[in-house]
Amino acid sequence: MKALSEYLDSKIEETIKTLDELVRIPTHVPPGENYEKAVEFMAEKLHELDFDVEMFIMPRELFEKKNPRLVHLKGERVNLSAKLDTGARKTLLINTHLDVVPVSDGWSVPPFECTVRDGHIFGRGVADSKGGPAALLTVLSAMKELGIKPKYNLNIALTTDEEMGPYSGLCYLADLGKLEADYFLSMDGDSDDITIASNGNADWQIDVFGKSYHSGSSFLGVNAIEKSVPVMSELLELKARVEKRRSNVPASSIISRKTGIDTLVPVLNITVINGGVKQNIVPDRCTLKGDRRFIPEEKYDEVCREFSDAISNMKNKNPDIDLEWSCDEIYGPMLTDMEHPWVREVKRVAYEVTGEEMQLAGAQGSLDVAYAVKVTGLPACCFGIGRRTKSNAHANDENISIDDLKMYTKFLGKLICE
Ligand SMILES: [Zn+2]
Repeated sequence: MKALSEYLDSKIEETIKTLDELVRIPTHVPPGENYEKAVEFMAEKLHELDFDVEMFIMPRELFEKKNPRLVHLKGERVNLSAKLDTGARKTLLINTHLDVVPVSDGWSVPPFECTVRDGHIFGRGVADSKGGPAALLTVLSAMKELGIKPKYNLNIALTTDEEMGPYSGLCYLADLGKLEADYFLSMDGDSDDITIASNGNADWQIDVFGKSYHSGSSFLGVNAIEKSVPVMSELLELKARVEKRRSNVPASSIISRKTGIDTLVPVLNITVINGGVKQNIVPDRCTLKGDRRFIPEEKYDEVCREFSDAISNMKNKNPDIDLEWSCDEIYGPMLTDMEHPWVREVKRVAYEVTGEEMQLAGAQGSLDVAYAVKVTGLPACCFGIGRRTKSNAHANDENISIDDLKMYTKFLGKLICE
């Protein structure tokens, strides 16, 4: 094992080269047009390492049915499943996504290649989340060279559309039954905490209807924007009630340090408002949209009922308001038992390579990993390379430190073999 750790340190240039090759494949979504290239790159490497590789293209019809807001996206939704049967008793599922978010102006380096500067590697996706697959390839080839057998059978799922969702390639592989395993490591995360839980997410929409009219005689129309005000007030009352609740799941260390909030919190947001055409036309429609992040202790049905009750309550006070509403679950919440042996194992290995006692934490956001966990029932830990506040994931100059990349490679090596 010591030999493997030392060997991995000497392989850092190889990992950076692999990462560079991955970053050069522009898998940003929208549009997500180059998934096939990234998947083929990984498939070829894993095949050379004796994995059985299979590509799964999500049928267009299914993609559009499950992601009605993404029908404009072009390109095949390609995903990779790679399996290695070592004859072990247990199987480890390792996953992350190969898609990245797009870039905007303002990068100090070319975004679609790796630039090494001041002990850091810059490039779109190095943290979120192409560093993981690059590190994994180094570990697997080092193990092959040293003749070390993994202690698990390996099931590697490299998937796409995580950055768009809701129905990503990982969800598709889960529904195809391709995620069979005993334990689940998601490399999509950061190395500040070990994420074992996440909030669920429901998207809601309310359409308030009015009657358009010449604004000079607005009293002859019905102003949908003005009618939306009591609706929003009611939602803000609900928001206040919802956001007083606390989960038993610890918050991420960054959030607790920054805000003093030390557990997961449910939230209700109004995030979109659309209505009106022109100053002199009474608007006949106002659309409100938002989301509701719910903690693992809450159920989607309850979330929906509570939302419905708030609307009924508002309607009782304002019977003349005409509206339609919906509240759809996007991802369920996720929660892995914090005492599960797999969680303890990941924590132990993370401690050995970082020298730090990692905190178990929940994510305020929602993950496609939660969908996979819901389907498979697997105990899951998310632990990746980037740092939440320093890596600029989803921002300009995304980067990881070379030390973190080395750490992560050793983490994977120890986790898989020791
Ligand atoms: Zn990610």
